[in-house]
Order: sequence, then structure tokens, then C-alpha cells
Amino acid sequence: MRASFDNSYARLPEQFYARQIPVPVASPRLIAVNRRLAESLGIDPDSLTAEELAGNQVPDGAEPLAQLYAGHQFGNFVPQLGDGRAILLGEVIDRDGKRRDIQLKGAGRTPYSRGGDGRAWLGPVLREYVVSEAMHALGIPTTRALAAVATGENVIREAVLPGAVLTRVASSHLRVGTFQAFAARGDTEALRLLTEHAIARHFPDAEGPLGLLKAVTQAQARLIAGWMSVGFIHGVMNTDNMAISGETIDYGPCAFMDAYHPATVFSSIDHQGRYAYQNQPNIGIWNLAQLATSLLPLIESDREEAIDKAEEVLHAFPDHFGAEWIRLFRAKIGLVTQDDGDGALIQGLLSRMATSQADFTNTFRALVTGDASEQLTDPGAWDSWQGEWQARLAREPDDPAATMRAANPAVIPRNHRVEEMITSAVEGDFAPFERLNEVLAHPYDEGPLTADYATPPLPSERVLRTFCGT
Ligand code: AMP
Ligand code: MG
Repeated sequence: MRASFDNSYARLPEQFYARQIPVPVASPRLIAVNRRLAESLGIDPDSLTAEELAGNQVPDGAEPLAQLYAGHQFGNFVPQLGDGRAILLGEVIDRDGKRRDIQLKGAGRTPYSRGGDGRAWLGPVLREYVVSEAMHALGIPTTRALAAVATGENVIREAVLPGAVLTRVASSHLRVGTFQAFAARGDTEALRLLTEHAIARHFPDAEGPLGLLKAVTQAQARLIAGWMSVGFIHGVMNTDNMAISGETIDYGPCAFMDAYHPATVFSSIDHQGRYAYQNQPNIGIWNLAQLATSLLPLIESDREEAIDKAEEVLHAFPDHFGAEWIRLFRAKIGLVTQDDGDGALIQGLLSRMATSQADFTNTFRALVTGDASEQLTDPGAWDSWQGEWQARLAREPDDPAATMRAANPAVIPRNHRVEEMITSAVEGDFAPFERLNEVLAHPYDEGPLTADYATPPLPSERVLRTFCGT
């Protein structure tokens, strides 16, 4: 890997991480290299070898380490989590001057592995590759996938499965849980250093810990509104899976909805629907409140005053979220101007879609390309909404088609397609993986394969549960 590493995290004091060389694997083999991403990182794609991407060799300039973090998992605080199966190789400065982490996921045990084997199997690696790259193509902030390699080793889960390593690129891997780890230890000095590091890296204009909290609050409000606009359900919004940068991170039991219902849950471990589609903004605030709590000692020496200031920042989340949500959904129904009734108009469509269990993606796309009434089971419900919508569109200055085309993807990574791709890959056929990546790279365009990948699952193909990335 010919890359110019500059490892700022490795320069932080040693309580932030454990230095850890990846554990070698039997016979690494390249599955995919994201050449365009490599080039944007200033890395020659031809210099990316299976040996280095599997962790069998450490690239020149890398300083491998596992990051410490803590986190609330489904509401329960765990004071020490950390990278149990991921190793940060280091950071590079990309072509836009932005610092980016390069991390191997599935690279062996670390001091934070607890009971785990430090490995990943092929399914979750390819799922994260496909879904994170699709998210990027949809224009929503996310970590990226630079490469996937097969390890030539098996991992034991519910079955014996082929092992793999994902090379993940992120603007950082700082999480809400990273702050919680030091707050829980009462290490205010480490918190101060972490806050400075996060500000310098992500929000250079932010002033102090309160400025950081404000910036993260805005970034998360924008991110979650973006998810809502494409029907994405993260699935495990634990505080250790919420990045300070505002990028989507940790694609585990995540999914894009087919049939729309606000209470949709996919994750097999989310029994209470804590991370259901419609709960995501509330969980966003809850997680940000944990960040705020961690930062309190840095905000004011008087705890009550610090709480007042932090609460004021958190209370702005619904406004940030609401403004972004309506901006995105206005575009989805073709509106560029603003009217007080727009929120109700959008909700009117969504509630009709919920009643009909209409396909989320195809209903919005059909507003511009086809007959959206076909997506709803009740023609009367559609007609009444359509009348209101047309009256509203009549007050718009321009033809709404282009706005809607750019806001409503034709294709998303549908669950049944992702599962089918994984099944094929396990059998050694990577063609569906490649096709899926190809189609999802241009989600707003109609291409030769679009119709095929835009079809919702048949009842027999429906994926009702998704499983954790382990
Ligand atoms: P996740 O649910 O994937 O966000 O992971 C939660 C925690 O479990 C993190 O600290 C992971 O590093 C750790 N973890 C998950 N899978 C494994 C594994 N196979 N081996 C070791 N640690 C793991
Ligand atoms: Mg995680």
C-alpha cells in the first residue's frame, strides 16, 4: 500500500488505544478494491495487496492500533468496549485535504475483544461494502469501503463460514462512546485532549466542548434526516456506533425498508423496537445526551450551569432535524418553495403509504416516473392526496420532475438482493456482488439493470430479520 500515512491518533497518549499488529491469516485473496476511492485517497490502487489488506503485512508508515471506547448498548452502559476486531492502520490526507482513517475490520483479536474471535465472516463484510458504498452514492455521509479480502480461514458462527476482512475508510472512528470511556474513568485530561482532537479534525470552527456538542448535534440531525429520506434503518444505534463526524458507521443489522411502515424493525436483537425507523431521531437525541453528559466537566466547573448550557444545545436537535427532514421530503414530492402546509401534505402521503404498506422507494420514484397510485392499495386515498398535491405543485415556479428525480432513488440496496449476493459469494460467485455495486453506484439513474434491482421482494423473498455483523 503506497500511502502517505500521518497518524495523529497514534500521537495521543497511550490510554487512548492499544498498539496491536493484525493477526495474520492463512491465505489472503483480494475480493474487491475500490479503485476510485483509493485514488481519491492518494493511494495507488495497484499497490493494494491482499497480504496488506488482510493484515499479514503492515504497510510502510502504518502504526496499527485498536481504539478504546465505551458505550451504551440498547441503553445499558458498558464502560469498556473498544475495537475488538478492528485495527486502525493509520491516517492519510485525501485529495481534498481531508484526514481519513484506514482501518481493517476482522483483523484478529485485540485487548478489547472480550470473548470474541476478532474475525468477521464474508457476509457482513460484503454487506458493509455494498451498503456503505450505496449510502455514499445516495449522497448521505458514511464511512466507505476501500477493499474486501477473503482470509482463506473459516470462522465459526451459527455455522462454519468463510472469513473476510473489510478495509474501512472513515473521516475518523471517534464515537460518542470514545468520550464516554474517559468520562467513566474520570479522566478529564484525556477528555480535554480528545475534545481538542475532535474539533481540530472535524469542526475546526467549533469553540470548546459546547461548540463541539453543537456541531455534532447538527451533524447527527442532518445524518438521521438523510436516513429517514431513503428509508434506512441503522439497526444498532448504540452510542459506540454513533460517529462524532456525522458519518453513518457500523453497518450491522441495518436495512433499507421495502414496504413502508414507521415502526419497522429489522434487527434480530432489537426486541423492543428501540431502533425502529421512526425512533431514530429520538435515539439521536438520547445518544447526544450521553455525549453531553461526558463533556459536562469541560463545559463549566459548576455542574448545574454546565447542564443548563448542554441542554440548550440538545433542545435545538428537533429544529435542526425538522428543518433538514422537511427540506429533503419537500424535494421528494417536487417542491422547491416553502409553504406552511407542506409538512401535513408529506405526512398525508406517508400515512397513506403506511396503510397500504406501499414500497417506500418505488412510491416516491413513481411520483415522477410512473403511476404512484399503483403503489397504494386504496385508490380513493391516492386520489384525495393527489388532488392536494397537484394544487400545491401549481404554485411551484418550475417543473418538479428534475427535483424529484434527484431526490428519489430508483435503486437502493434491497435486503433480498443483499442476502442473495451473500449466498452467491459464499458459494464462490461474486458476480452478484459486482453487479450490485455497479447498479448502486448511480442510484438516481435508470440503467439497463435498474428495473431488475428496483423490484420489491416477493413474499417468499422478504427478509424480515437481519443479524449482527459479528
Ligand atoms: P458491534 O455490535 O459490531 O458494534 O460491536 C460491539 C463490540 O463488540 C465492539 O467492541 C466490537 O469490537 C466487539 N466485537 C464484535 N464482534 C467481535 C468479534 N467477532 N470479536 C471480537 N470483538 C467483537
Ligand atoms: Mg460497533
